[in-house]
Amino acid sequence: MNREKSRAEFARASRIIPGGVNSPARAFGAVGGDPLIIERGDAALLTDLDGNELIDYVGSWGPHILGHRRPEVIAAIQDVLAGGTSFGAPTQLETQLAELIVDAVPSVEKVRMVNSGTEATMSAVRLARGFTGRDAVVKFAGCYHGHVDSLLVQAGSGALTHGVPSSPGIPAGCTSDTLSAEFNDAEGLAALFEERGDDIAAVILEPVVGNMGVVLPQDGFLKACRELCTRHGAVLIFDEVMTGFRLSYGGAQELFGVTPDLTTLGKIVGGGLPVGAYGGRADIMDKVSPVGPVYQAGTLSGNPLAMASGIATLTVLKNESPYTRLDEMTGGLVAGIEAAADHAGLPHQTARCGSMFTLFFNPEPVTNYGVASQSDTERFAKYFQGMLERGVYLPCSQFEANFVSAAHTEEQISQTVAAAREVLSSL
Ligand SMILES: *Cc1c(COP(=O)(O)O)cnc(C)c1O
Repeated sequence: MNREKSRAEFARASRIIPGGVNSPARAFGAVGGDPLIIERGDAALLTDLDGNELIDYVGSWGPHILGHRRPEVIAAIQDVLAGGTSFGAPTQLETQLAELIVDAVPSVEKVRMVNSGTEATMSAVRLARGFTGRDAVVKFAGCYHGHVDSLLVQAGSGALTHGVPSSPGIPAGCTSDTLSAEFNDAEGLAALFEERGDDIAAVILEPVVGNMGVVLPQDGFLKACRELCTRHGAVLIFDEVMTGFRLSYGGAQELFGVTPDLTTLGKIVGGGLPVGAYGGRADIMDKVSPVGPVYQAGTLSGNPLAMASGIATLTVLKNESPYTRLDEMTGGLVAGIEAAADHAGLPHQTARCGSMFTLFFNPEPVTNYGVASQSDTERFAKYFQGMLERGVYLPCSQFEANFVSAAHTEEQISQTVAAAREVLSSL
């Protein structure tokens, strides 16, 4: 595979952009080599600067459930573009997208648009604190909620004590009210509530985790989170930035039948343009400025182009409901990869929910961050490079979700399984 133009372009970027990337997940630090520079996308294919065509399982890290350049989405953006790009005043489009969200997501009675998933979680945490008048927030090790100061705590540290920042530049004070718990450990969470129940404003979690690789909630875990929050007057926040409109049209909360108080959205809700949203119970959302005292704002929030992209994406999803087909297609893909890994005799686990999945090079079932972090990342790096060499573009880390889109074809799935068979048997 020729990568000359990508290499030259990445070198140029690296001179003036830290690490050559505008988000660290795009760097190939965990797998070695330079990232490919992408020129265009078409359905489930990416084309890089050197003209290589790649079957895409990144989907811009989640948004592209319909694949690249879905005609309805592009047409909607172009239509709105003709009337201008931003007004800083209300438009009909914002209400239209809000109606689609309220209609789809069980917990959401009112919703506020922002510009990223990070903004959504940051705002939801502030709102939960403002609503309850409490400071402490519980997060689970391995769940990622964007680069919010108070949520960047060291994984697994500080249960019952003060969270320790996981990045320089975050004052200890920012994380001292963040309590860390273990995903799928309902008893641990109950103990935390026993100890600190009166201080806990919110519990935030990815109901199906995508950000330590895919990790599913065990039976009863989400329900236990719900019950503990209700009993202790804490706000339950489902961070559905990744799972919203991905696992079902109503997200993980619809699929698992557990309704949080607040929900954060991003990724698919913008259909490839920068949109985040947070919403939930009307009595909580009415604490947001200007109705209530909790301040939150945004110059470009509800941007018309971004709204048009989100509306078109959700409308296609609502009308076509690709979820059953996505589930079956991804099931077939994962079964094929699983068989290839079995055949190669490699210790592995696959985790899948709908169209998101991870192949873990790990002998143990992955139920939490402690187990996930034991995965063989060197073997993953070789797997990644082998797949890339064969035209399959996977997320460049063991600890990410792979995404299948409605634009993937059976033929592309078969090609991917064939590539996995070759690569895994060579490891
Ligand atoms: C991607 C992601 C975020 C952060 O969203 P950004 O748009 O990157 O700020 C937050 N939470 C979850 C669960 C995510 O997957």
